[in-house]
Amino acid sequence: MRRNRHAKIVATLGPASDNAACIESLFLAGADIFRLNFSHATHKEHCEKIRVIRELERKQNHPIGIIADMQGPKLRVGTFTDGKIILEKGQLFRLDLDATPGNNERVCLPHPEIYKALHSDTELLLDDGKLKLKVISFQSDFAITEVIAGGELSNRKGVNVPGVMLPISALTTKDLGDLEFALNQGVDFIALSFVQRPEDILDAKAIIKNRAHIITKLEKPMALQHLDQIIELSDSVMVARGDLGVEMLPEEVPSIQRKIIRKCRAAGKPVIVATQMLESMITTSTPTRAEASDVATAIYDGVDAVMLSAESASGMYPIEAVTMMDRIIVRTEQDPLQRTFLNDSHGMTTDTVTDSIAAAARQVAQTIQIASIVTFSESGMTTLRVARERPSPPIVALTPNIATSRFLTLVWGVHAIIVEEAFSFSEMVEMACRCAKIESFATKGQQIIVTAGVPFGKSGGTNILRVARIDD
Ligand code: PGA
Ligand code: MN
Repeated sequence: MRRNRHAKIVATLGPASDNAACIESLFLAGADIFRLNFSHATHKEHCEKIRVIRELERKQNHPIGIIADMQGPKLRVGTFTDGKIILEKGQLFRLDLDATPGNNERVCLPHPEIYKALHSDTELLLDDGKLKLKVISFQSDFAITEVIAGGELSNRKGVNVPGVMLPISALTTKDLGDLEFALNQGVDFIALSFVQRPEDILDAKAIIKNRAHIITKLEKPMALQHLDQIIELSDSVMVARGDLGVEMLPEEVPSIQRKIIRKCRAAGKPVIVATQMLESMITTSTPTRAEASDVATAIYDGVDAVMLSAESASGMYPIEAVTMMDRIIVRTEQDPLQRTFLNDSHGMTTDTVTDSIAAAARQVAQTIQIASIVTFSESGMTTLRVARERPSPPIVALTPNIATSRFLTLVWGVHAIIVEEAFSFSEMVEMACRCAKIESFATKGQQIIVTAGVPFGKSGGTNILRVARIDD
């Protein structure tokens, strides 16, 4: 199993895609990582999806990443008797603490803190800003609002209150339970929602204790004030444009997206662009040309991964959406201009031995024909530094560590393979040639680059670059 592209695809699972056959089809269509959204579904349902993914991983003999995305302190409405309602402009709509399913006169907004932080005329944005309500009157347990912008509102849609500072912490009681569950299930990534301060990541780290990699979702304007420190503390970062784009003006999003990608690439931290990438494919079988261009823009900028949310979780065309994303990425990566952009935009090489080897690998691959770059890496660190260079050949990551192989599913250009530990350099070269050949990353007569660390077993000790030819 090999993909013909460098950038990765994250597909969110949901009611449209949570059975085993569909998950397999999504993987075959191009999904490298699956995201479980803990804003929806029960632990039992998530548990079943994780079981299916792990079984698929064994069947395909290829690592598949799993992200457990924490709801975080996101405000959401409750449910409706009929699953959804239509709100008309000008009508009144009540928000309260009553958990009974709602109708087109009221719904539960189960956050007591919010009623205290309201004032009259406060605007509430619903479903990523598609609907707008204005507070007319309120008490400590309900609010009467007027619909300013109407439309369809379905179960558990998000609510943003721009400009109002809500006194809620980054990991809610629900998150703590979900986090423990997800870690016990052995997920690879924990996505932290609504991070506002570097301390939020430190708090999460104290609980996670290296049991999973942290993806920090940048979706609060406040987080951007500490961007460097947040990137430094995170294992990877998501440009969560849904909430980010509600909390700040739409015209701010493109330049912020670029800034985040640039900083993450310079730091060598995987970066994901998320939300609304192929939004119209929720209901139609082809994307708008603007959406195709949005995916391509992220690829030209060199992101590690692009993500599908409702398109794959609850839309009508989950598999078509992944197929389309795959096609856009493959086509964009064929454009010689993309290579020019990548070469022009990679970060400074730091003065470490690993980075010098990573930079040398890119240069060698620019000078002579190289079919693939094979890295040996226990922790994945060397592979990350090689990927940071955005070399043109694919990177084959050999690791004895299954957790590392799953982490690398998110990383640009990397195809990870689990191998036994090697005990001599010649054994490594032999293993590299064999793996590259078996997994179609090199054929007889082609040359590959092998990077490794001698003496063995020392993390971050990559100090050898070898060009090897595939003999038979
Ligand atoms: P969500 O996060 O889908 O969990 O809201 C992504 C975003 O806000 O863009
Ligand atoms: Mn969000």
